[in-house]
Amino acid sequence: MDIAPNRYGFFTDTSICIGCKACEVACKEWNDVPDDGFVFRATSYDNTGSLGANTWRHVAFIEQQRPVGQADGRGQVGGQDQGEGPAGGPGPDSIERWLMSSDVCKHCTHAACLDVCPTGALFRTEFGTVVVQEDICNGCGYCVPACPYGVIDRRERDGRAWKCTMCYDRQLGGLEPACAKACPTDSIQFGPLDELRLRAEERVERLHEEGRPEARLYGASPDDGVGGDGAFFLLLDEPEVYGLPPDPVVTTRDLPAMWRWAGGAAVSLVGAMAVSFLSERLVGRIAAHDRSLGRRR
Ligand code: SF4
Ligand code: SF4
Repeated sequence: MDIAPNRYGFFTDTSICIGCKACEVACKEWNDVPDDGFVFRATSYDNTGSLGANTWRHVAFIEQQRPVGQADGRGQVGGQDQGEGPAGGPGPDSIERWLMSSDVCKHCTHAACLDVCPTGALFRTEFGTVVVQEDICNGCGYCVPACPYGVIDRRERDGRAWKCTMCYDRQLGGLEPACAKACPTDSIQFGPLDELRLRAEERVERLHEEGRPEARLYGASPDDGVGGDGAFFLLLDEPEVYGLPPDPVVTTRDLPAMWRWAGGAAVSLVGAMAVSFLSERLVGRIAAHDRSLGRRR
């Protein structure tokens, strides 16, 4: 599906993310996104938890404990075994691998949020991205359950829906989005989507050659359930490990069939009412005719 002649997007290569959160901070700063309530999550270095109305970039920290010998080739944290548990497996303090991934709105090719918005507040930009206009959103929230990734969210303070715009204002000025600009490792790359996909495939090949067979792309295929994502990822494990749906599907895919069914049902109903109305009139006329015959006799 060709949604923009020169579609731009994000390629997030999680294999080189260091979890510095510069992308989260840059996003908040540039877009003036409010705080998340300053909640301290003592179980993880992840202090924002998930994407939401006030978190448009979210750096997930997945702290994995794996039996020694099943490390992925990156080695253990700190380059050494962090201790053993009673059965010889990893101990309670043993974290052999951290996966870090900066998540964001996927700017889907088939975006259900767009399909269900009744006011036109959500629109497709000339860069192929999906943007919500805060001055048009009426806060109905239809877009929230429609998103297959759980990205878009209503803000408690004003009730309207908010999410990543891929820094539409910066793109209009010829600048890259704030998160990509701030990322010190180039884990977040911004550019024409076709170029990013080629670059990502080369990167996966290189990782495979280096003995990292678990490297895979997520959201890069135009043949997936949402027609491919404008923001896609290189992952080092199954999507579920990162909290991503393994096989996302555009939630409005059945709408055309439902409208056809509703249209057919409406036509049948009108037909039945017309038949009933005509039948009643016919019965009335016969009765009147019979009465007039009775009077003549
Ligand atoms: S990820 Fe969700 S909010 Fe973003 S474009 Fe797709 S459907 Fe819309
Ligand atoms: S700025 Fe780059 S390296 Fe730092 S957390 Fe974000 S994606 Fe990872």
